[in-house]
Amino acid sequence: MATKKFKTEVTDLLQLIIHSLYSNREIFLRELISNASDAIDKLKYLSLVDGDLKGFSFDPRIDISFTEEGKRTLTIKDNGIGMNEEDLNNNLGTIASSGTKKFLASLTEDQKKDSNLIGQFGVGFYSAFMVADKIEVISRKAGEEKAYKWTSDGKSSYEITEAERDGQGTTIILYLTEDGYTYANRYEIESLVKKYSDHIAYPIYLEYDKVNYNYEKKDEKGEPEKTTEHVIEQINTCSALWRRAKSEIKEEEYKEFYKNNYYDTEDPLFYIHTKAEGTTEYVTLFFIPQKAPFDMNYADYRPGVKLYVKRVYITDDDKTLLPTYLRFVRGIIDSEDLPLNVSREILQENRVMASIRNSSVKKLLSEFKKISENNPELYEKFIKEYNRPLKEGLYSDYANRDALLELVRYHSSSRDGYVSLRSYKEHMPSDQKAIYYLTGGKEETLKSSPLLDAYKKKGYEVLIMDDDIDEIVISSVYEYEKIPLKAINKAGAMDDLKEEGEDEKKEAKKSLAEKIKAALGEEVKDVRISTRLVDIPAVVVNDDNDPSAQMQRIMKQMGGPDVGDIKPILEINVDSPLIKKIEDSQDDEFVKKLSSIVLSSAMLQEGIMPENPAAFARDISELLSK
Ligand code: ADP
Repeated sequence: MATKKFKTEVTDLLQLIIHSLYSNREIFLRELISNASDAIDKLKYLSLVDGDLKGFSFDPRIDISFTEEGKRTLTIKDNGIGMNEEDLNNNLGTIASSGTKKFLASLTEDQKKDSNLIGQFGVGFYSAFMVADKIEVISRKAGEEKAYKWTSDGKSSYEITEAERDGQGTTIILYLTEDGYTYANRYEIESLVKKYSDHIAYPIYLEYDKVNYNYEKKDEKGEPEKTTEHVIEQINTCSALWRRAKSEIKEEEYKEFYKNNYYDTEDPLFYIHTKAEGTTEYVTLFFIPQKAPFDMNYADYRPGVKLYVKRVYITDDDKTLLPTYLRFVRGIIDSEDLPLNVSREILQENRVMASIRNSSVKKLLSEFKKISENNPELYEKFIKEYNRPLKEGLYSDYANRDALLELVRYHSSSRDGYVSLRSYKEHMPSDQKAIYYLTGGKEETLKSSPLLDAYKKKGYEVLIMDDDIDEIVISSVYEYEKIPLKAINKAGAMDDLKEEGEDEKKEAKKSLAEKIKAALGEEVKDVRISTRLVDIPAVVVNDDNDPSAQMQRIMKQMGGPDVGDIKPILEINVDSPLIKKIEDSQDDEFVKKLSSIVLSSAMLQEGIMPENPAAFARDISELLSK
């Protein structure tokens, strides 16, 4: 027997773990189970490849047991590869990973207090010293006869002695500190295994004494007879469904998995299962719920994607796993390349994670597109729920804008239902130079806007953007496949519809526009002659760089900067009888009243109330009675 000092780096690491991760000490069980699972993985592998252990047969399992009396203990046992004396020295006396060593050496004193930083490397086995003041590791390497026992109090040294063990594998006995007593408990262990290790590929058994009460048989005191039964029960489902080959998974299994894990009573709309191999290895399994999650539009929504590292659960509360606009996606990301203790801060900067995230977004968007092409009915259901978040993506995810432009849908002035930009483009007559849209109101209001008339006459379709975020989003999208996007309620859009002789006509009526402008005074920014109005006397539009009335309302609601009162531009139809009346009248008072009615009516058409509705009504009845 020999007592050996830990390498100083181990002592440092132990101190660091205990100080920085103590508040989250329950993770020790996850670490030990993960080690056990790795050890079984290794032996399984060796039993399959050429070598001394080829053909080695065993029933992989992990066993947990505990004692509740006296000095409490917790035991985790596996029948994996095991360790011989040399392995014990190398693995549990030093820090095996050179990356971890370098990382430790680079930490400043301040950084050492930062649990998030410490979480970056695999704390692994040593984390058990957060709940134990003595640990025994009894191990026998597969294919070898001798077993060894490693013992340490986790302070400065350990010793290794010869020992006995039936069969290959490792048994780890934790002598719990008083703080750790809670872990010598059936319910605690079950709940931790459910939380962290449910999807470990091998069965985990818990051994405990179950107390049964027999109410038929009472003792002298009248208490029911008590018998204890020793049970060994499997406590994980070991169903890492996403790790199985796609071809072997039935549709029903995917659906059940979704419903059991994401608290939904309905089947998912569809799911996307991807296995990536190459520089970064990972598996993703994403589900799209039938109905948008209830908190989708809350700022404090719960993210729906869980992160696993090699089947071990890491977190379900990280909003950076996918971009915010994909917050309706449910599912799993399981990486082979991340460290187990990857922390939130690290995740955000981690290159492996960034690459998984980018590929996942690309995958999701391309699958959505495929569905839109191959299964329009399903896509319609999808877009009914998720059009809005995808539009947010147009605004926030510049890198994927082109893909997103293929996915979003809008109403149209000339067709029912939703149209895509692609289909809009296909419907464009050859003389049409821009994609036209109208924002700023409800679908019905926009669809009956007189602004549409001139476009309809030319056979141009106009996209009806009735979602309140449309205006904000679309104003950041300047073109689709090199075709400019233009809002038809902006003064500039009119130029596209210019007809021959228009300039002369405008020139001839210049004084009429000036007359009305003088009559309206401060209420308008300008009065212009329009040639695009068919039946009505006038419309209001906005100056090209001014926000629309709707946008101004939203900005006010959001407590945004006060943009002041932005005045509309009044476009008049000089052929309308009402405008002709103004033109012919010499009565200043009459011109003023009629101009004001024309302006208020034009605003009403856009769903904007006149500032003084009573005065508006009075002016109308007064004029009508004349
Ligand atoms: P990590 O698992 O991150 O490498 P640990 O400190 O948890 O770090 O473990 C160090 C090493 O000890 C492991 O890499 C492995 O070689 C060995 N080891 C730990 N637990 C077991 C076990 N149950 N069976 C076999 N080897 C083990």
